[in-house]
Amino acid sequence: MTALDLAGLTKRYPVNTAPTVQALDLTVESGSLTALLGPSGSGKTTVMKLIAGLLTPDEGDIRLGGQSIRDLPPERRRVVMVFQSPLLFPHMTVAENVGFGLRMRGVAPSQTAARTAAMLEKVRLTGLGTRRPVELSGGQQQRAALARALVLEPDLLLLDEPLSNLDASLRDEMRDLILSLQRETGVTTLVVTHDQSEAVILADRIALLLDGRLAQHATPDEIYRRPASRAVAEFFGGVNFLPGQAAGGVFQSDLGPLPLPPGHIKGGSVLTIRPEAIVLGPGPDARDATVLACTFLGTQTRVELDLGGTRLQALTNPWAASELAPGDRVDVTLPQDALWLLSGS
Ligand code: ADP
Ligand code: MG
Repeated sequence: MTALDLAGLTKRYPVNTAPTVQALDLTVESGSLTALLGPSGSGKTTVMKLIAGLLTPDEGDIRLGGQSIRDLPPERRRVVMVFQSPLLFPHMTVAENVGFGLRMRGVAPSQTAARTAAMLEKVRLTGLGTRRPVELSGGQQQRAALARALVLEPDLLLLDEPLSNLDASLRDEMRDLILSLQRETGVTTLVVTHDQSEAVILADRIALLLDGRLAQHATPDEIYRRPASRAVAEFFGGVNFLPGQAAGGVFQSDLGPLPLPPGHIKGGSVLTIRPEAIVLGPGPDARDATVLACTFLGTQTRVELDLGGTRLQALTNPWAASELAPGDRVDVTLPQDALWLLSGS
């Protein structure tokens, strides 16, 4: 079932000439965790604010559970947004912060107290309810903000860069907490991030926003394996783009004929292969290559290769590449099922 439906959503800020969000169509399934991914300035926060009702769209509609919420005030939307910096009320205790929305809705004090306590336990803040926000760490403040949002049992939870203000170890902890709370409550969640690996770990589906437009909406696996465009492939670390021509299931390029994976029937003039899909070492379909450079990246080694004038980059296990040096001859296989054809550019 569709929970959220954005149709032709467009937003122009007065000072900008081009729209910040352009004719955005996006559907989010009920109970799913979708990542709204894009580089800084691509319009992610603007989309969130439009959904939450903090901004008004110039064009387009926003539907929640099939009903337009475009003209509803924020407090009637059943949408809760958690901002990048937690924005807790400094003069209230943590428990008062978490219970704030319930009190505003006229929920009885005893119920508010019970639901607040249960939620504090879920975000692992039991015992810290009487503290003020300044007495919490950054990670604890984020968890309090998450509790304050979830306690309202919204139809849609919007999280704007919930991990970007946290250091690496806390980020993993918070990410796991978001994942487990989302699974437990089943709340439809849209989480903004500029970090593709974060999106891949968190999300059922990724909506990639480039320059205010939806570049692709797919599962993480699909977006890696079948990028909709060169820009999408590049955003996910794609570096190998071969010009050529596809016909009859074969791609003709400077590398000679490359048979495309079965079912690959569309036309296209650029072939891409992910660097980590390239196999170094002998094999039945291996070709001759020369190593141009090796760069140790920690968990992987980047090997730049020359295949008879065509340059490709491979990412490989550092142990497998430890003997390689510039000028070495090496066998290279481009697995057929890792080839992917891009239509444009
Ligand atoms: P993101 O969250 O992806 O970083 P934003 O939605 O915050 O992107 O911003 C997208 C673009 O809109 C940026 O170029 C930003 O400068 C511009 N922008 C954001 N808010 C405003 C505003 N209130 N007035 C004018 N321009 C804005
Ligand atoms: Mg933002």
